[in-house]
Amino acid sequence: MKALAKLHAQPGIWMTDAEKPDYGYNDLRIRIKKTAICGTDVHIYKWDEWSQKTIPVPMVIGHEYVGVVEAMGDGVRGFSIGDRVSGEGHITCGHCRNCRAGRRHLCRNTVGVGVNRPGAFAEYLVIPADNAFKLPDDISDELAAIFDPFGNAVHTALAFDLVGEDVLITGAGPIGIMAAAVARHVGARHVVITDVNSYRLDLAKTMAATRTVDVSKENLKDVMAELGMKEGFDVGLEMSGVPSAFRQMLDTINHGGKIAMLGIPPQDVAIDWNKVIFKGLVIKGIYGREMFETWYKMAALLQSGLDLSPILTHEMPVDDFQKGFDIMSSGQSGKVILNWE
Ligand code: NAD
Ligand code: ZN
Repeated sequence: MKALAKLHAQPGIWMTDAEKPDYGYNDLRIRIKKTAICGTDVHIYKWDEWSQKTIPVPMVIGHEYVGVVEAMGDGVRGFSIGDRVSGEGHITCGHCRNCRAGRRHLCRNTVGVGVNRPGAFAEYLVIPADNAFKLPDDISDELAAIFDPFGNAVHTALAFDLVGEDVLITGAGPIGIMAAAVARHVGARHVVITDVNSYRLDLAKTMAATRTVDVSKENLKDVMAELGMKEGFDVGLEMSGVPSAFRQMLDTINHGGKIAMLGIPPQDVAIDWNKVIFKGLVIKGIYGREMFETWYKMAALLQSGLDLSPILTHEMPVDDFQKGFDIMSSGQSGKVILNWE
């Protein structure tokens, strides 16, 4: 079968001919329809320090996808051949304390699809049926293909109550923009999103952010005054992984504020802990998506009218993958979809 793989320990990604994967007793084999390129795939493409430590070569990558169940093991219940599915990219162990308590997103033995085991940039993908999510018919293939990053946005945005609150989102990457749309949809008051990339801030604006702020040109505190915010943000969603953005959040959040942190800083970050202590802040780390609460909420948010379609800025046949990776690396895009059919 056709597959996009990291074949060599150097920058790049290669189309290759891989063995069609076998499935086990509890597995689904999914025929891939569409995939999306994640920031993680770009890291692997560029072969940064994290990838060099993490990715065994060769490895079929990719973990954002939609497809159709083509075959399944005898132990699978609740799925039929032909079901349209996406899937949770974190394969959990099932026997640690958190897994046994139903908190699979906190599994200490998580294995990543397209990171530690063969991924979805292929004509066929095998995953445990427990990791698949059957999609309602009224959700498009394109949106279904981005349920993984949409799930990061939903998991982070719904970590704290946003109804009537003023929310600061640092980082208008695809996930930050989707989180802004979710925050507005569930009833936040001001949703202010920061970045240094005007393409992405413009996209955030079309997707319901109250105010976009280019922090290289504007002062966030001036914007707060303009919006009549006297005290500070109630909730912060950190979605850049950039230390200065996190510090700005600590500066502008109100006393008693709550921060959900999704962005992954490249190295240790020093902050003024006095702000955390004297403001009485609550800071929560967010990893992945809750299995499967976040997934049900994603479907319901779309079915209740959340419009994510503007985030789908590019779509192309998988043979144009190089163009897809170039666009994604340029920062001049929302989500980039690769078509496998
Ligand atoms: P992304 O890299 O596309 O977005 C980050 C954005 O931050 C970019 O648009 C960048 O221009 C912007 N930025 C740079 N400097 C900034 C500044 N000073 N202030 C505000 N914004 C600034 O990433 P993404 O795919 O949208 O993901 C968002 C973050 O979440 C990344 O750090 C990613 O690594 C992380 N992530 C975490 C998880 C998890 O499970 N915790 C899962 C997926 C992604
Ligand atoms: Zn576990």
